Amino acid sequence: MKALRDPGLFRQEALIGGAWRTAASGKTVTVTDPATGETLGIIPDLGREETREAIDAAEGAFADFRRTTHAERAALLETWYDLILEHQEDLARIMTLEQGKPLAEARGEIVYAASFVKWFAEEVRRIGGTTISAPQRDRRIIVLKEAVGVAAVITPWNFPVAMITRKVAPAIAAGCTTVIKPSEFTPHSALAVGVLSERAGIPAGVVNIVTGMPAEIGQELTGNSAVRKISFTGSTRVGALLMRQASDSIKRLSLELGGNAPFIVFDDADLDMAVEGVMASKFRNGGQTCVCANRILVQEGIYDVFAEKLAVRVSALKVGSGLEEGVQIGPMISRAAIEKIERHIDDALAKGARPIGARPAVPLGSQYTAPVVLADANTDMLLASEETFGPVAPLFRFKNDEEAIAIANATPYGLAAYFYTESLKRAWAVGEALEFGMVGLNTGTISTEVAPFGGVKQSGLGREGGQAGIDEYLETKSFHIGGL
Ligand code: NAD
Repeated sequence: MKALRDPGLFRQEALIGGAWRTAASGKTVTVTDPATGETLGIIPDLGREETREAIDAAEGAFADFRRTTHAERAALLETWYDLILEHQEDLARIMTLEQGKPLAEARGEIVYAASFVKWFAEEVRRIGGTTISAPQRDRRIIVLKEAVGVAAVITPWNFPVAMITRKVAPAIAAGCTTVIKPSEFTPHSALAVGVLSERAGIPAGVVNIVTGMPAEIGQELTGNSAVRKISFTGSTRVGALLMRQASDSIKRLSLELGGNAPFIVFDDADLDMAVEGVMASKFRNGGQTCVCANRILVQEGIYDVFAEKLAVRVSALKVGSGLEEGVQIGPMISRAAIEKIERHIDDALAKGARPIGARPAVPLGSQYTAPVVLADANTDMLLASEETFGPVAPLFRFKNDEEAIAIANATPYGLAAYFYTESLKRAWAVGEALEFGMVGLNTGTISTEVAPFGGVKQSGLGREGGQAGIDEYLETKSFHIGGL
């Protein structure tokens, strides 16, 4: 790859048991730059056999790794953290080239990704059991926390590095070993952090990375009984499939799935702050985030003023290659993504939506789409029930709090929700009524390593980050000692 300070970070092989490998079949997958359509790299398209080898390597490494001390694992994570930050610029560049997001956002993601490594380097020291008063005089009971075992980590393309560190750092902290299956759209970001895990001295077999198309790899990861845990971030459809496939061998599951976030603006809100919140929540990563505002609900009295203010900001967004200075919206990940966005816009227009403000100009090329604000959105439109995953801001109108809450909760998803109000009473009532795993009050950004991240309903199971993040990789064993 051109212009990397450290070209060794750009790998085109999979990582299995400390060896960089190609596919036995010789099959490959071509990775393209979404900004240009040009080939960026060619990665091995692994099958079941190599996936089994990666699981074996992880199982082999687990025998020793589970016995390492907390201090040893903390030191490995600290070194990995330092290396990720040291190579921030190269990692960001690889990410922008294969994923498309603006370079400034990619740099931000590297810092965010590293924050999980730091956080779990600190949390590892707090893994501890408890003692329990036994019901008999001659007994003692202690509760131990032990590493789950081999963890399979399956990640999406929208946050190609952070979704990996959010899972792998707590897994390592707990003493687990991992087999990572990154998205076929963004494997080079994963391989680059894999290189840095080696340089950090993380033992061979603790971090394995299998690349390629997902079906066969997924079947092995879910079917192999040596894998004790699956941590998946991606669509609800694939999450449900993995859950079914993993059911025969009863694996522990963490599922971070799709969302359909409501963003409610009440009539007593600070409107400028709310506009700022929509810009952050809706347009980051071109609207391709699981927590991005999908449905913007605005109270009728302030609807027109708010719509006008938002349209002014959206019209000024700069669309283009993520490498270009000042660009705020990069290319979308694929042609299929553009088609879904266009389908949602066409459907909304046919059902009465009204575009407001000028849409920003887009460069030539098939993977760009212009951001748009759509007024008069209603709940019959596709964009009310499906994740659009693009820079489309539909504005729904509501009369009162009850109606806003009813619309917000009328979705099978329950990941993130946002609302803006200056009333304390309303803040509590609405905050408690929203059926979502994460709620932002007067803020459009809720992702941080220190707080639990995850959803309810069909948005998933389990939590990542925060104090809960490490529990996902720990088993509880009660140890009963008799005859004392
Ligand atoms: P996706 O479900 O298509 O793919 C996610 C990962 O699963 C990829 O690595 C893919 O290769 C793999 N995969 C696909 N089919 C598989 C199979 N049969 N077996 C095993 N693995 C398989 O999702 P995506 O398009 O990459 O990402 C977008 C989705 O992810 C959106 O729905 C978004 O909301 C969700 N997401 C959720 C969170 C969260 O934390 N809740 C974060 C980011 C993205």
